[in-house]
This record gives sequence, C-alpha cells and structure tokens, in this order.
Amino acid sequence: MDECRPDPAHPPRCHVNLIIIGTRQTSGDFRTAIGRHLMLAVTAAGNWRADDTCRVVGVDLGGFDDATTRAHYFREDFKAVHRCGLALTVHAGENDDAEGIWSAVLDLNARRLGHALSLRQSDDLRRAVADRGIALEMCPYANLQMKGYPLDDASADSAMRYPLLDYLRAGLRVTLNTDNSGISAASLTDNLLLAARLCPGLTRLDVLRHQRHALDAALVSPAFRAVLLGRFASELGAPSAAARSL
Ligand SMILES: [Zn+2]
Repeated sequence: MDECRPDPAHPPRCHVNLIIIGTRQTSGDFRTAIGRHLMLAVTAAGNWRADDTCRVVGVDLGGFDDATTRAHYFREDFKAVHRCGLALTVHAGENDDAEGIWSAVLDLNARRLGHALSLRQSDDLRRAVADRGIALEMCPYANLQMKGYPLDDASADSAMRYPLLDYLRAGLRVTLNTDNSGISAASLTDNLLLAARLCPGLTRLDVLRHQRHALDAALVSPAFRAVLLGRFASELGAPSAAARSL
C-alpha cells in the first residue's frame, strides 16, 4: 500500500519504518562510528524516499548519556540528517541530568526523548518539552533495571517514584516502550504490567492515553497517521473525535 494513498480496504500486511541508531559509548572513538551511521541514514533516506512499505524515517542518538556525550557535541554531525527530513530521537536524561535533556531539545531539536527520567529536575524544561509536543519514550523494565524504583508502593516519596504518572498528569506526551528487548527481555505487555506496579493509581484511561500518544509520536506521514488513528478509534468502538481527545 502506498502510505500517502491509504486504502482501508487493502491494509498492508507489514509496514516497516526504520530508525537507524548511532550509539554513544563510555570510551573509544564512538563519534566516528556514529558519523558512519548518520551517513548511512542520510544515504538510505535519499535512495529510499518513496513511501514504500519499508523505509528509513529517522535516527536515534542512543547509548550512554552523560556530561561527556551530550547532544551538543553532535550538532554539526546531525545537520545533514535534519536537512534530508529525517526525524530525530535522543536518549537523554537516563544517566545524565536535566542539562542533557536541554541539549537534546535545543541543540538537536529532538522530536522524541529516550527515557527523560531527569526531566522532573526542572519545571522550565518540563514546560519546554510539553509546549513543543516532544514525546517521551519511557521503558519501565529498562528504567527499573537502571534506577531501582519502588514497586507497589503508593506511599513512596514522589522524588523516588517512577515519574511516568507525574509526566502524564503534567500533560506530557508519554509513550510506553520495550527499549532494547535483547537486554531487558520484556514485551510491551510486560512493560505495561510493570508500569502498573511502578505507578499505583495508573488507570485504564492512562494506558489508552499512552497508546494514543504513541500514534501521535509515530514517525509516519500525516496520511498514514490518520489511518492509524481511525483504526484506533474503531477498535475502541468510539467516534474518532472522542479518541482524539484522549
Ligand atoms: Zn534505552
């Protein structure tokens, strides 16, 4: 199916939009390796521009984030990525503090942020991320492995709690993800179930909001997003306008 001319009568059996990852390491010449991956993404985007069932749509600056690997170090490297229309998601605020997220937002214009656990350190940053509609890719299993948040504890101090529910209540575009399933070995369902234990008070409506945010943040064309939102609404048995307000 041509993504720009969706035909609901003949949905694609499989639609693949690829995100190429450039991974930061804690040592070694990782910037050169990332540069190679960025060039691969730019080349693929140029040769794979047709709205086919498989194409490159974005780049992820992944891997270890701290003060020595912040987004601003890569500002020049990513210009070509931006100028060929690829979207960008940046691992930020997992190990690093709020400054790392500021850098992802201001220096690389990230459309999505991986984890963003330190976002709660700054109200100004939280507003900036909300105002820009930047999506947060939260991964309960991976986040628990890294940070050890309390489970099934509604009385836990808010500074110690997993921030997913606070972000959602603050109007941020939170999504739920698996992260690297080769490391955390957890499905999306596993992550949803764990989110309920990390966030006492999480409701079914909150889960639907996550799913709706995922559709809003998906790296797809506006036409294909409209198809996905239509399916989402029809599976809920609700009119599209109601699903849109989630
Ligand atoms: Zn991750």
